Amino acid sequence: MPETIPNVSRDEQAELGAMSFADCAAKLARYFVDNKFSDNDLKLLCRDAYDFSLPIRTIDGHDLDPAMPESSYDELILELFHGPTLAFKDFAARFMGRAASHLMQSSGDQRTILVATSGDTGGAIGDAFLNQKGIQVFILFPKGGVSKVQEQQLCTIGGGNANVHAIAVDGTFDDCQQLVKEAFANKKMAKQFNLMSANSINVGRVIPQSFYYFWTSLQIKAAYMDKPIVYSIPSGNLGNLTGGLIARAMGAPIDRFVIGNNANDPFVDYLASGEYQPRASVPTLSNAMDIGRPNNFPRILELFKGSHEAIQNVCWGASFSDLDTERHMRSLHTATGYVMCPHTAVGHMAMQEFAKDVKRPFTQVTVSTAHPAKFADSVERILRMDVPLPKPLKKAMKVQKVMHISPPTLDALQEYVEKKT
Ligand SMILES: *Cc1c(COP(=O)(O)O)cnc(C)c1O
Repeated sequence: MPETIPNVSRDEQAELGAMSFADCAAKLARYFVDNKFSDNDLKLLCRDAYDFSLPIRTIDGHDLDPAMPESSYDELILELFHGPTLAFKDFAARFMGRAASHLMQSSGDQRTILVATSGDTGGAIGDAFLNQKGIQVFILFPKGGVSKVQEQQLCTIGGGNANVHAIAVDGTFDDCQQLVKEAFANKKMAKQFNLMSANSINVGRVIPQSFYYFWTSLQIKAAYMDKPIVYSIPSGNLGNLTGGLIARAMGAPIDRFVIGNNANDPFVDYLASGEYQPRASVPTLSNAMDIGRPNNFPRILELFKGSHEAIQNVCWGASFSDLDTERHMRSLHTATGYVMCPHTAVGHMAMQEFAKDVKRPFTQVTVSTAHPAKFADSVERILRMDVPLPKPLKKAMKVQKVMHISPPTLDALQEYVEKKT
């Protein structure tokens, strides 16, 4: 956790809202980093990292536009999938990759990154750290547990002879996450390889996720002054939510968060009952959320000083089966033409469920976490239509895959890392 959460004044918020997203991000980052980064370093870093858009759209495809009638703003989609690997994780990974490289250049350090992925983190981290000097990246993913497109993406970063290595672990995502944790806890290994984490256990992955909540809530507030803003977040490890909660704690004009879970729903259960019971994960259609022990739960507790009641005042959740998700994707597509990835669909259903019991008007913002083409295998089956691949994916699909298959043991991991570093 950051030692303190800064409070951004109303005056400063007015300035931040008038800036580009990248410049606003640089200003917010200033609160969390020390003088190894100048203001100008941060500005250049953010402008380089955030060279893609984050559109706030209506479900029928219009951009947020103050000239539109108020009622069209009730339901918005925040598309966070326009970065190079087509999922929201690009936002934090690209900030972190550039920040780490800046620090490494001044210190001459060497680092080994171990990262466990349920599909999207690995791609974003691999892309963000590709060819960065002094850094080797090992991406652990559950063999057969990611979508076809994700696997292709993970196993083609750098074409097999760069500093990014994909490891297909014979196990679940929780096994991968556990292996990474064991490696870090193993003093000998941590020292020998100078290990660095790039999962959301690293706070450097979480803080940049507050930037887009901050900036987009200011844009929505400016367009639509009087209504409270509620974001719905399809969640697994709860890193995205933690970013949102940090933005809210800093003063961003966000009323509440709605959390959508798939069958892996220990957090939604906790919200309802006050009891937290982590458990083994089960595979679902929204595989990036197949997490039974969310890493960021302790951070959320800390933000609210352990009070279940305080958390309940800000967070509400619901969970959905794969069958619900498929039905929703189909009916939404038929009614509006909008194609959602299965994760986003879970968040969207949770928002609709939440909205049923709310009488006063509010602005609904469903956070879209990935481009549907990343899950083309399931989306095409469910919607019975072709989902065209965006350019970066088309390129990755043509490259020969390179992966190392490994049993889920620390010894096997250590041996492979040793060979490659
Ligand atoms: C990672 C991911 C999630 C879950 O985000 P958390 O921060 O782990 O809660 C949801 N959807 C997609 C597409 C993802 O890649």
